[in-house]
Amino acid sequence: MSEISILENVRLAPYSTFRTGGPARFFTEPSGEDELIEAFRFAEEKALEVFILGNGSNCLISDKGFDGLVIRIGKLMGGISSETGDDGLTYVTAGAGCLLSRFGNYCADLGLEGAEFACGIPGTVGGAVFMNAGAYGREIKDIAVSVRYLENNEIKEIKASECGFGYRTSIFAEKSGKGETPVILSMKAALPKGDKDKILAYCTELKQKRTSSQPLDVPSAGSTFKRPEGYFAARLIEDSGLKGFALDDSGAQVSPKHSGFIVNNNGTATAADILKLIDFVADKVYKDTGVRLEREVRLVGGFGGEG
Ligand SMILES: Cc1cc2nc3c(=O)[nH]c(=O)nc-3n(C[C@H](O)[C@H](O)[C@H](O)COP(=O)(O)OP(=O)(O)OC[C@H]3O[C@@H](n4cnc5c(N)ncnc54)[C@H](O)[C@@H]3O)c2cc1C
Repeated sequence: MSEISILENVRLAPYSTFRTGGPARFFTEPSGEDELIEAFRFAEEKALEVFILGNGSNCLISDKGFDGLVIRIGKLMGGISSETGDDGLTYVTAGAGCLLSRFGNYCADLGLEGAEFACGIPGTVGGAVFMNAGAYGREIKDIAVSVRYLENNEIKEIKASECGFGYRTSIFAEKSGKGETPVILSMKAALPKGDKDKILAYCTELKQKRTSSQPLDVPSAGSTFKRPEGYFAARLIEDSGLKGFALDDSGAQVSPKHSGFIVNNNGTATAADILKLIDFVADKVYKDTGVRLEREVRLVGGFGGEG
């Protein structure tokens, strides 16, 4: 068995697209399943809480950091491969640490249809399964066939129909909400062959749509809030007069380009500044419309009792 490297006191801000976050007491990036199991053993011996981090593109990490072990599932666990099934579909298996954009581009290069939406989402496959990430009318649940994961030192594989996929949620998110720590290891997706030129053109079109409508050059975690049924969060925020709004000069601002994104201009805001603005926006929209916006962004570490 390989010897896992566990670092102490690692700043988490570089591992979050919001660019906030104090130190992790312990931090490791396993190179495979053996090291992952070893990391859990380390946490158990030291009675540490564990947090599983992907690309940190949907997390607001506390300024106090995380007083436990952060296990980052990155490119060392991000292999990707494919095989053609007897049914004519192509089955693509991607490790949890594979970037979703790489997965989308890999499928497009093979002329496979249906994963174009993934090209512009800046998370990992693991984070995307956890969140049932989606865009432009498609989501992970539309392409996934099965998911392998580690739970209580046991590797399991379940069908996509057993993953409890819903709008930006999954059985893994539910388990995590109950204090469990399942780790997604890989996803198998099934995709039909299509017209490669059209698929590549569609990927480019979706990327251009993002560039023109989203503040991709400023730190953020994408859409701050979930879409409330029957509404669009960005529209509600705009109607409350909050487009471009900031409470102070910390750097936390409702994006002037897309009201659904709260951004961290120049990366100068603290996580507390950002959370203060998130709460302010949710309260103002509630007061104005009666609609309660629910955070899509996940809080990591201590926020004075919230989490
Ligand atoms: C500019 C921008 C645009 C975005 N656009 C979209 C979009 O169009 N659609 C969309 O759905 N999202 C979007 N997002 C949000 C984000 O990219 C997705 O939610 C993504 O799926 C998160 O993946 P991640 O690897 O970064 O997860 P992280 O942020 O690292 O983690 C998110 C959650 O998943 C858990 N997790 C991560 N990996 C694993 C694993 N291997 N096993 C178990 N749990 C795990 C974490 O514990 C955490 O609770 C956007 C974000 C940004 C910054």
